[in-house]
Amino acid sequence: REVLRLEGLRKSYNIGQPNEVEVLHGVDLCVDSADFAALVGPSGSGKSTLLNQIGLLDSPTDGELYLLGKPTREMDDEARTALRGRNIGFVFQFHHLIGAFTALENVLMPVMVARGKPDRETLDRARGLLADVGLEKYADRKPDQLSGGQQQRVAIARALITRPALLLADEPTGNLDTKTAADVFELLRRFNAQFGCAVLVVTHDPRLADTCDRTITLVDGRIDGDERHDAARADA
Ligand code: ADP
Ligand code: ADP
Repeated sequence: REVLRLEGLRKSYNIGQPNEVEVLHGVDLCVDSADFAALVGPSGSGKSTLLNQIGLLDSPTDGELYLLGKPTREMDDEARTALRGRNIGFVFQFHHLIGAFTALENVLMPVMVARGKPDRETLDRARGLLADVGLEKYADRKPDQLSGGQQQRVAIARALITRPALLLADEPTGNLDTKTAADVFELLRRFNAQFGCAVLVVTHDPRLADTCDRTITLVDGRIDGDERHDAARADA
């Protein structure tokens, strides 16, 4: 199933000003629900800009972005936010967990923001996701009582609580040691298979990119390579 399609997507900043700059120069890309894809490229190539576009955090200057078949360029902020909330999960380099909340409450956050008090089913799903990431026993801990890897696993569970069709991760392991980073990629892979949730992950680490099924390379605001490959083992 097609989750995402970009057609001739362009993005400029500072439009109409002397420092106007086009950062994405017509990106075409298709992402399927089965995809577990790495987005790589040199610093400044436009990865964050592209991720902001795909995450519906910002609108394109030209071209079109379809999420689940819906064109999004003409959407107003409200519609964009609603579509994002229902269909996209985010994991960042820094987990952005709320320090005053327990792991379980953090996982429930996206639902509570959208709908208020979580129902029984949502609570069960949150506990299930914490179990899936190996943190069943840590549901009542605050973030500062968890290791960096555990915090990032809570952030992954939080990103999945709304059952997104697409999980976007921006350098989710940038802050973690090699073994913990490989574990996080294993988890992403498992959710990709288990939930049929497309995963797109920005990484600087070629070894981690090799553990994905597809590597999309961005250079100077253009897709410079898009290869499907058999996943290499992180510990190979
Ligand atoms: P990457 O994530 O690959 O490092 P970015 O998307 O952050 O690349 O940046 C790509 C280019 O766009 C850079 O030259 C950067 O300076 C520029 N850029 C990014 N965001 C803005 C912005 N808000 N205003 C102006 N230029 C920007
Ligand atoms: P069903 O078609 O019966 O909903 P799924 O395979 O879609 O079965 O889901 C199985 C379980 O995984 C359900 O409990 C569902 O809530 C959960 N689930 C499905 N997709 C996601 C997702 N993207 N993120 C988190 N949980 C999910």
